[in-house]
Order: sequence, then structure tokens, then C-alpha cells
Amino acid sequence: MDIHILTLFPGMFQGPFAESIVRRAADQGLVSIALHQIRDYTTDKHHTVDDYSYGGGPGMVMKPEPVFAAVEDVRSQAGAALPVILLTPQGRLFSQGIADELAKLPGFILLCGHYEGVDERVHRHLASDEISIGDYVLTGGELPAMVLVDAVVRLLPGAVGSPESLAEDSLRQGVLQYPLYTRPADFRGWKVPEVLVSGNHQEVARWRRRQALVRTRRRRPDLLVKTELTLAEHRWLESQLSGAPGIEID
Ligand code: SAM
Repeated sequence: MDIHILTLFPGMFQGPFAESIVRRAADQGLVSIALHQIRDYTTDKHHTVDDYSYGGGPGMVMKPEPVFAAVEDVRSQAGAALPVILLTPQGRLFSQGIADELAKLPGFILLCGHYEGVDERVHRHLASDEISIGDYVLTGGELPAMVLVDAVVRLLPGAVGSPESLAEDSLRQGVLQYPLYTRPADFRGWKVPEVLVSGNHQEVARWRRRQALVRTRRRRPDLLVKTELTLAEHRWLESQLSGAPGIEID
């Protein structure tokens, strides 16, 4: 996969991309991440990338010319019309589903805004997609780009040591992940649930599924609306909510 990031602050990416899964995926050749300085595509002697907003108002707006020039150059070097994803709080909300979609692409360009935002003509005539990482406003698109790259790269085949762990991740099956425990079995008197040390894999799987359901119902009931439950699971969950006796939750 080829990821191109267009930014005014390429230095911000050095740390996060030099560690852990993204670094390993790059070392293994699963992904190539190229950083492009938008300022390099200016043509005036002051390398101006921003200007005042037409109509007045606070803050500076990123000019369209260097952004268009940067995308056109990257596309011509790549020899492909790579999709351009603009990071913006006005975009569709990033999710595991969108990460799955992007992980299937051969590559894409991420465009990081800054200041008050980018000229509307970039939104309308250059961006093929607009993505927000949440309902809050950050200083620039750099952190959102890092979040998106991390979520996508870990899905590439071979990027994560044990691919089964991806299937168990929260949100993967429309539910949050079950509680995790490691050694010691007794820490300060807080014991690991017995079923987990029973060696009974079927019971462990059942316990985990039920824990995931209860946890999701309590913390993110909105997710359950979109999740398919078996009739038995549905009944069991209802019994938990109605406080029916005889069934252990935790
Ligand atoms: N004034 C803009 C608005 O209200 O839409 C926000 C500008 S913000 C200070 C500067 C840049 O940060 C944006 O152009 C965008 O690239 C990035 N950004 C900020 N918050 C973001 C978010 N939640 N998701 C994605 N990108 C974001």
C-alpha cells in the first residue's frame, strides 16, 4: 500500500511512524509512507501557503494552488489517480468500517489542513473523500492522519503478529471487547475469574461473548442496535437488564 501525506508539518510524523506496528509494516514492505511538504509547491519567493479569508473573519485559509500542485505531482509520480482524503472536522466520522474500506485500497493521499482550514475549492474539486476523527477541532490534520494510518496499517495482512487478535478487537463484531486478564491470577486480592483458568475453551468463549455483550450494553448501547444477536443471546441479555436472578454477570 502506498500512502502519501501532504502536510505543512512533516516533522510531526517522525516519532509515531518510527515505532511499533507502522514501523514494522514499513520495514516489511507492506506499506510505504511518503511525506510531502506542501510549502515546496509554492511558487512565490515567500513560499506563502495561506491567505486572508474572502469576506473577512478571523484566521488564515490554506491557499488552493500549492495543494492542487502537490496532489497533481504525487499522482503523476505514482502513475495513478490516487484518491485524496481530506482530514476535516466536517467529514464523515472515521470508524472501523472506514478503516476496513481503506485497507483494501492500493494507496491514497491524505491531505492535512491547518489554520482556519483549506480553501473550499480543495473540498469541492480535489478531495474524493472527507474524514473527521471525531466531533472536536484539532489544530491540524496531522494527528488525524496518524490515527487513520495506524488504524489502516494494522489491518494489512502480515502487519499484526497474530491476525486472530484483530477479529477480537472492540467494534470488530459490533461489540466491545471482553475483559482481558494476565498473570498474576491473584493481584492484591483481585482474582482472575475462575472460568478463565478452568481450561474449558468452550466455557471461556461463552463467558467472553456474554461479557462483551453486557459491557457493550452498558457502555455503548448504540452499537448493539446494529449488532446481530442470536435469540439466546438476546434473551440472556434481557435477563441481565431486568435483574433476573441466578445468572452471573462479572
Ligand atoms: N475552521 C475549521 C472548521 O470549523 O471546520 C477547522 C479548522 S482546524 C483548526 C484546522 C485543520 O485541522 C482542519 O483543516 C483539518 O485538516 C484538521 N482537523 C481539525 N479537527 C479535525 C478532526 N476532528 N478530524 C479531522 N481533521 C481535523
